[in-house]
Amino acid sequence: MDNSQIKVLVVDDQPSNLRFLSKLLTAQGYQVYRAICGQLALNLAIAHCPDLILLDIRMPEMNGYEVCRTLKATAETEQIPVIFLSVLDEMNDKLQAFRVGGADYITKPFQVEEVLARIEKQVGLQKLQQQLKEQNYQLQQSQSLLASILNSSLDGVVAYSAVRNSEGNIVDFQWLLINPAAEKFYGLLLNDIVGKNLLAELSQFRNNGLFDLYVSVVETGETVDGEFSYEHERDTIVWLHIVAVKLNDGLAVTFRNITDRKRAEIALRDSEERFRAIFEQAAVGIAKTALCGQFMRVNPGFCQIVRYAESELLQQNWQAITHPDDIEADREYVSLLLSGDIQTFSMEKRLLCKDEAVRWANVTVSAMRDAKGTPQYLICAIEDISQRKLVQELLQASLDTQTRYAQELTRSNAELEQFSYVASHDLQAPLSTIAGYAQLLEKRCHNQLDAQGNKFLRNIVNSCGRMQALIDDLLEYSRVGRSEKPFDVIDCNLVFEDACANLQLAIRQDRASVTRGDLPRVRGDSFQLLQLFQNLIGNAIKYRSSEAPMVRVSASRQGDSWVFSVQDNGIGIAEQYHPRIFQLFQRLHSEKQYSGTGIGLAICQRIVDRHGGRLWVESEPNRGATFYFSIPIPK
Ligand code: ADP
Repeated sequence: MDNSQIKVLVVDDQPSNLRFLSKLLTAQGYQVYRAICGQLALNLAIAHCPDLILLDIRMPEMNGYEVCRTLKATAETEQIPVIFLSVLDEMNDKLQAFRVGGADYITKPFQVEEVLARIEKQVGLQKLQQQLKEQNYQLQQSQSLLASILNSSLDGVVAYSAVRNSEGNIVDFQWLLINPAAEKFYGLLLNDIVGKNLLAELSQFRNNGLFDLYVSVVETGETVDGEFSYEHERDTIVWLHIVAVKLNDGLAVTFRNITDRKRAEIALRDSEERFRAIFEQAAVGIAKTALCGQFMRVNPGFCQIVRYAESELLQQNWQAITHPDDIEADREYVSLLLSGDIQTFSMEKRLLCKDEAVRWANVTVSAMRDAKGTPQYLICAIEDISQRKLVQELLQASLDTQTRYAQELTRSNAELEQFSYVASHDLQAPLSTIAGYAQLLEKRCHNQLDAQGNKFLRNIVNSCGRMQALIDDLLEYSRVGRSEKPFDVIDCNLVFEDACANLQLAIRQDRASVTRGDLPRVRGDSFQLLQLFQNLIGNAIKYRSSEAPMVRVSASRQGDSWVFSVQDNGIGIAEQYHPRIFQLFQRLHSEKQYSGTGIGLAICQRIVDRHGGRLWVESEPNRGATFYFSIPIPK
């Protein structure tokens, strides 16, 4: 045995003893230090830190007990085992020796074997102690390493021991350990939980399948490694990745909460399913194409539009089924899309279909990019707009025709107006010459003509008068459209008074009563409003019944307009004639019954039109008539 590393301090005031022991020990290979007194022994013990001290009890100045006491009270030396040496073999001495901290006792005279055996035993013990210390230290180290791993682990770690009933079946698990991640997950604390039972603390384990799983791990010894989901709290499903390993009569469980990842996976799967359903069932065409335009995936909607089978389309690209005139515009859009200048584009283009038809489609294209923003492929939505295009073309054609008609109508109206103005204006002069000469002839040649000649002459004069009236009215009519006088604010009470003054003769002759309510101010042309009032009141008197005419003019506000009414008690008008009487030259009576030109109401219609209003009549035969007209109130 190699003792060269073992240091032994021998303390004895007898030089012979010192010599004997040191010789004996040196021969055994020990490193030996010698001290002749207590004080020297203490100094050497501190200086060399021996593995063992052989200490004589009886020494002058400081005896062995005192030296031992001092050694045990000093930190550097307290661990060094001390074997006492003495001639005494008394119980008291031995007791005293152990009391002050001695490890053993050797009685003089020394028996060589005994000395060596006791020294070896102490050295061996000392070594074992040393080893134990080191192992303890290692244990502490690995314990604190384990604790720090458990504390810092993001995964939950728990350990249980099985709780068995009298038949030996597992009825619960007892908590042995729970790390902070698991504490947080379960809302439990290590100090509160250790020693308690799992089912008592987390009753959900009874039903969520994990208890049975843990039992099977302990009973079969087979490790479980998999993903499990269960209702953790009410309405909250959690997903855990669990690794459960048998540990003595219990198990250690490591788990990771993977709920977020699972949710994302489920959401992704759902959205993929939704996308697939939309893709397959969409009424519009959808296509996924490579950046070069090659079709990668097409839906039935698209196949239907272009009349190609899916397998045929997948052999083609966009260029092959795009009308040559649309290819350039398409290419420009795609290059803008790929460069990132635009996010998406829509264009109307013609598709060359398998049935050789050319169909219009509205194609919307978006680029799908990877995380770095590099375009990966294109998604196109294709809508068949052939029908819409057809309707658009028809509409456009009919709009063009309508516009042409409207332009023609305006032009011919203008021409007609011009013609009627010129005609009536130019007819006036020759007519008044004819009338003038006819009157002269009547006056001067009255006696030279026979009765029939005079009658003819009378007819000429009358016809001239009538024609004069017609021309005057026609002129009035054409003037309404030509007037460009700006509107003023007009007090209709005054207009009424002026109209009555102008109609004074007829009022007096027919003993008519013409009254009014409170009439408003309106924006309009004063002369034309006077014509309007005068024509309507004049007609109300003219188309009288046998009773004396009673005419009432009133107005009321209806929405954004003033509505005027001119009511009479005259002969009335049958409903079927209501629309007709507002047309030019339309009369319901002969000249003999009621004189007139059939232009008055047409003039009224034009005047009301020019003021932005509406003119209508309510009447029945023999029940009088009420003419209404509206004039908008300016905002
Ligand atoms: P005129 O009075 O010169 O014939 P109008 O244009 O003023 O021409 O009237 C057209 C026709 O409307 C009249 O011929 C008449 O038959 C009918 N009419 C107009 N006003 C009334 C009225 N107040 N009562 C009955 N009939 C009327």
